[in-house]
Amino acid sequence: LTTHFLQRAKASDLNAFLQVDEALSLEQARAADVRLASGNAGPLTGIPIAHKDIFVTKGWRSTAGSKMLANYTSPFDATVVDKFNRAGMVTLGKLNCDEFAMGSSNENSAFGAVKNPWDTLAVPGGSSGGSAAAIAARLAPAATATDTGGSIRQPAAFCGVTGIKPTYGRVSRFGMIAFASSLDQGGPIAQSAEDCAMLLNEMIGFDARDSTSLTAEQGNVREDFTRDLNAPLKGLRIGLPKEYFGEGLAADVEQAVRAALDVFVKLGATLVDISLPKTSLSIPVYYVIAPAEASSNLSRFDGVRYGHRASEYKNLEDMYKKSRAEGFGPEVQRRILVGTYVLCHGYYDAYYLQAQKIRRLIADDFQAALGNTCDVIMGPVAPTVAWDLGDKANDPVANYLADIFTLSTSLAGLPGMSVPCGFGQGEKNSKRPVGLQIIGNYFAEAKLLNIAHQYQ
Ligand code: GLN
Repeated sequence: LTTHFLQRAKASDLNAFLQVDEALSLEQARAADVRLASGNAGPLTGIPIAHKDIFVTKGWRSTAGSKMLANYTSPFDATVVDKFNRAGMVTLGKLNCDEFAMGSSNENSAFGAVKNPWDTLAVPGGSSGGSAAAIAARLAPAATATDTGGSIRQPAAFCGVTGIKPTYGRVSRFGMIAFASSLDQGGPIAQSAEDCAMLLNEMIGFDARDSTSLTAEQGNVREDFTRDLNAPLKGLRIGLPKEYFGEGLAADVEQAVRAALDVFVKLGATLVDISLPKTSLSIPVYYVIAPAEASSNLSRFDGVRYGHRASEYKNLEDMYKKSRAEGFGPEVQRRILVGTYVLCHGYYDAYYLQAQKIRRLIADDFQAALGNTCDVIMGPVAPTVAWDLGDKANDPVANYLADIFTLSTSLAGLPGMSVPCGFGQGEKNSKRPVGLQIIGNYFAEAKLLNIAHQYQ
């Protein structure tokens, strides 16, 4: 199995992989063979998995898609990687992504964009573009990804694969190179809800090395996410936020999503109109909070402790400046500037504090709907299908606006899922996938996977 996928990964020209190392993978595969032969194997033993390059992986380069970390090899494994290693999974390689997970098209990677396997003129989505493209092109059967404001759900939608962002705090962030710590959450991308459930079984759990990890007392216990996959959906109340079906939603995306909703009605669900009135504020709120946290997290990259150091400099301060100017790409620099601005004395109250208050109101919107009028919320993952490579590459605001349907879930810390639900139209009449988004209340991952599985 490992050999098969290694061959496919090496032959691919999608630029989904940043590193493939046959010797490292085969060593793990042989160990898995021994385990399988000895009867000491779990359901994932011997199955290859590729990791988004945000997860540090012992013995492998871990770049976060940045020139800053182009030559960084981690001396330890991220908790998520460690858990999959213990389960006997085989690391197939490291996957391309937007630099420090900042982006919606994978075009912010220092190592070049990833191509969408459905239409190589299209972006794969971001920031986990390599993860989604690798699954869609069958270069790997399973992949890790991270979602801060949509980076699991949106690339999964653009590439026609399945992804789930768990409740914030359920998956350890230890060894996940930080972007915005109050939002970052790891999760799987795979072919199906069933595969995602099996992967999530291994990923979840309290980790003392992550200060925001949810504890067992808080409900973060290991559970079997496959247990409810076949539960019937009769009586399920699906909330449809009017803000997710209004102006700006492309007709082809709306059509595919509505067709999926018809399937749920046939399965016994009812559709309820709801409202999430603060939806439009999620963009300004997220693009204040995420850069603020990023500016703080990225201050560790000073050319001394990690990564790139300029070769010529006059003094210490000059070394910091030159190393950071050379190591960080334009989008990362933009976020650091925005982040330090909104945190500075005199602006903190006007921007950062205000954004935190609205963040709470956005979370309240969801609580007013979930549990009262509906059990889950559905809508599109993104307003359009994947756009053309290059189309929005120099227009950060256009990229930010395309995150409208994924940001509020992240700000509220809720679990969200992307499930392929048909196709829209690309530029030259190509078919580009559409993703259905399913949002649930805290800890509702098993419910989301059940719903997705019934649809699939
Ligand atoms: N597109 C969003 C951003 O650029 C979300 C990225 C993410 O979830 N990592 O910040």
